[in-house]
Amino acid sequence: MDNLNQFQFKCSSCDEIHVGIPSLGSKAPNYYFSIPEIELKERVFLTSDTCIIDKENFFIRGCLEFPVNGYSEIFSFGAWVSLSEENFKKYLDLIDKEIRDQEPPMFGWFSSWVWPYYEDTEDIKSRIHFRNHGIRPYIELEPTKHTLALAQTNGISAQDLIKIYEYYIHGKKE
Ligand SMILES: [Zn+2]
Repeated sequence: MDNLNQFQFKCSSCDEIHVGIPSLGSKAPNYYFSIPEIELKERVFLTSDTCIIDKENFFIRGCLEFPVNGYSEIFSFGAWVSLSEENFKKYLDLIDKEIRDQEPPMFGWFSSWVWPYYEDTEDIKSRIHFRNHGIRPYIELEPTKHTLALAQTNGISAQDLIKIYEYYIHGKKE
């Protein structure tokens, strides 16, 4: 009975049973969402992994990873951190490098929300750990009492995961 412990739930948005822990994420750093749409083209350069705003704010996308209480699978959330310009350039040099896990971790300010929880997440310190074979870097939040930092260490509940899931898959707001 391998899948006894597989994460699944009946979705209150679409009434389907969703099976498995999804990978979710934010398509851009917080700052991006504060920019008026009409200015985006001029001020923002955004790819799936990098974002530059006003040629002076540098962000990369990494993975926040959470244990899910009661399950063996990890919940991975694509989140953004800001880097210094120097580190951003270094990151670009490493982006296609197959083996890079020996690189020292980089400092970054955490720059994502994880809706609908953990809203007040800006300015959490983090470290970016490089991984091999094109896997996005792992984001380690500074171990503070912040809800998000605690969740990274202690795990999140299935209940919370369902709410995050419904929010990102169906845009469901409470
Ligand atoms: Zn659904």
